[in-house]
Amino acid sequence: MTTEAASLVPAEPRHRLDELDDAVAELENRPLSQFRTVWAPATALRQRAAEVGAEEVGQRATLLQAGVLLREGHTGDGGQLAHQVRAWAEEHDSRYLLSRAHRELSVFYRHVGDFSDALTHAVQSVALLTDEVPGPLRARHLMTLAVALDDTGSHADGRRRGREALALAAAAGDHELTSSLLNNMAYSAVETGDEAEARSLIAQMWELQARTGHRFTANELDTVAQVEMMGGRYAAVEELLSPVMADLVVANEGDAVAECQLTLAQARRLDGRHDDAQAALDAARSVCAQRQLAAIGARVRQEQAALFAATGRFAEAYEEHRAFHADMTALQSVQRDARARALQAVFEATEARRASEHFREMAHRDALTGLYNRRFVNERVPDLLLESAARGRPISLAIMDLDHFKRINDTLSHATGDTVLQRVAEMLEEAAPGAAIAARMGGEEFLLVLPGVDAEEAALRCERLRLRIRAFGWQPITGSLQVTTSIGVTTAPDGLGTFSALLSTADRHLYAAKRSGRDRVVAG
Ligand code: GH3
Ligand code: MG
Ligand code: MG
Repeated sequence: MTTEAASLVPAEPRHRLDELDDAVAELENRPLSQFRTVWAPATALRQRAAEVGAEEVGQRATLLQAGVLLREGHTGDGGQLAHQVRAWAEEHDSRYLLSRAHRELSVFYRHVGDFSDALTHAVQSVALLTDEVPGPLRARHLMTLAVALDDTGSHADGRRRGREALALAAAAGDHELTSSLLNNMAYSAVETGDEAEARSLIAQMWELQARTGHRFTANELDTVAQVEMMGGRYAAVEELLSPVMADLVVANEGDAVAECQLTLAQARRLDGRHDDAQAALDAARSVCAQRQLAAIGARVRQEQAALFAATGRFAEAYEEHRAFHADMTALQSVQRDARARALQAVFEATEARRASEHFREMAHRDALTGLYNRRFVNERVPDLLLESAARGRPISLAIMDLDHFKRINDTLSHATGDTVLQRVAEMLEEAAPGAAIAARMGGEEFLLVLPGVDAEEAALRCERLRLRIRAFGWQPITGSLQVTTSIGVTTAPDGLGTFSALLSTADRHLYAAKRSGRDRVVAG
């Protein structure tokens, strides 16, 4: 290892950064049912990442927090964090993180009731996955897409995506994910009234349980019970939901128990067991009050109206129906408010980021020409060198200085000199496409940084630039005075070398160009 290469070793030992990577990956891959166990370690990781400057790990941990917040109902906060992470991922070309962020954003927009944006983000989250992404992760993204398609009425596409996800989850032996996918698809079949499809999916859920010992969650049991109810098998509904009532089943989502009680009340009413139905309904109502479950609370009223009607108490049924209607209307406006607030919070966060980006950008630009300034170059070029060295790719540097520029200032005016600098800057900018950087280092001296460009190509490009500047129609600006430039170029073939060493070589070449008559390129 050369001494120059030694300076490329990051301050933090490699294995420590790997540990952080492993830790965040482990959290990302935890089963859905354990989302609550992610918060504390993600918080600690975020802190640790900030201490050692592992920015990407920090962003991944932040996105994990966003996921927990969204699933616990802190929609605005979760959405805000997810938007921040998305912006970072976009800026840093982190495709994996961007794909994950889009998935959380899809969840966010679904919660605030904006199904079309939820679909847009779900599509992105799948589109950005690369071929190397492991099956269970792809399956989760496809599941989000399937749900978003279903919500927007594209049931056939939703089913297709659901099946793709299912095949991946099954192949990976992820029973929890498989069951949860089958459950989503069955629930969608119940909603569209397709009992045959729902039954076939439920049969697969049972088969999975028998084979793997996966225990149904409360949500899954509720779907199974609803399918039994469709077929009029009320005793089966009782039997399925009794473990939930006895508190023997995991409820991943805050409203699962109330859902189950409501299903139970409906089945009992349809079975003609009116008193038992009333008991289940009363239990559902009290859970809704305790947990502030307004949406299910309104459906409890609807079911109460149906129960009154079933027992011939039509006046009470009518009153209850009116109450249900009022609740729904209020609920919709509460949802609208919540949605507006959540969107506002996200909007403000985005605006704040834009403003700070604007100021940061200003600090990096030269006021006269709009090119990058020396400060930016000093911050950015060492990173570009590290990247080139890490990939073993060449990088070239060129210093350009105007010839006899003093004459233009002295013969014409300082303002004319400024105009010349601006025109030259434009031509320089055009010579720096893509990842290349064009900067004004001060006075009439400019820098070109060309990552991935070898010595031969760099010399060629600089020669083209020199000719272009010389051939430019200067006459209207400078009259008979010629504008020409001298350029010194150097290349680090494997990206190895420090910025200051490369600069001083390029500067030496520039000096040689000046000495040998100006208006020329000298390359190393
Ligand atoms: P050489 O070919 O050896 O480079 O000769 P030169 O006259 O270009 O070099 P020198 O470094 O002696 O002069 C540079 C001049 O550029 C001096 C300064 O007045 C002028 N200059 C520096 N910054 C600006 C600017 O922002 N606007 C204008 N109009 N002139 C500037
Ligand atoms: Mg000069
Ligand atoms: Mg100069």
